[in-house]
Amino acid sequence: FEIHGVPIIGTNDDWKGILIVFHDITELKKLESMRKDFVANVSHELKTPITSIRGFTETLLDGAIHDQEALISFLQIILKESERMQTLIKDLLDLSKIEQNGFELNIEHVYLRPIILDIIDTLNNQMEEKNITYTMKVDSHLYVEGDPYRLNQVFMNLINNAIVYTQSGGKINIDAHESEKEIIVNVKDNGIGISPEEIPRIFERFYRVDKARSRNSGGTGLGLAIVKHIIEAHGGIIIVTSEVDKGTTFTIKFKKHRNNK
Ligand code: ADP
Repeated sequence: FEIHGVPIIGTNDDWKGILIVFHDITELKKLESMRKDFVANVSHELKTPITSIRGFTETLLDGAIHDQEALISFLQIILKESERMQTLIKDLLDLSKIEQNGFELNIEHVYLRPIILDIIDTLNNQMEEKNITYTMKVDSHLYVEGDPYRLNQVFMNLINNAIVYTQSGGKINIDAHESEKEIIVNVKDNGIGISPEEIPRIFERFYRVDKARSRNSGGTGLGLAIVKHIIEAHGGIIIVTSEVDKGTTFTIKFKKHRNNK
């Protein structure tokens, strides 16, 4: 609490009392501490790849450049780390744009099937590398009133996470169906799962259950924060159910008609 005291003086300069104002600054303090955490997180996330890029470049200049094998492997690391930084900066700019200006959504009828097929196509190599199989059940008539670019971002994040957080040989199921008022999409995996304590935190910026795994797979810890913003801007909700070592399901519910509350 912040406490201010002001004397109350009557018209004849007589002392009538004192007004004490208690100002609850818990929320302000919380915001301030979130801002500080955010800056610390961003700095840390940028420092890690830049340290590695610098280290490998220096080693190359110190002579490793003449060793063909080291040269190729170091350059590959440098490339991967710069890609990480680029993704991080892109996600950060995206998130700050969303959080500051809210959303400008270009609403259209977005058919879900082609969007999801397109994403599967893009991620197919990644699945093959890990020997992950998938099923997909999305009727071609299902559509959402939404922004195609943003919806693509949502499903790309969720399906990519399903692949990253599932062991080799795992399975992913994507299905969509409709109820009277809603379109419901499930992205399900039988991967590593998330413990009940972590579930409420995964939509926070930079929150990651396993930093090393996330980082190795190119994750920034911002994906789900962005996904949640996008879904809410569409008037939808996202729910996660998960069990450690069994798997995770993300369920998204969109209203069929955006303006019907
Ligand atoms: P990241 O870039 O780290 O994947 P996200 O914001 O997309 O960041 O996800 C936040 C964290 O939530 C991940 O680091 C991971 O720990 C957890 N997570 C997300 N999706 C899954 C999933 N399908 N299975 C298990 N854990 C998941």
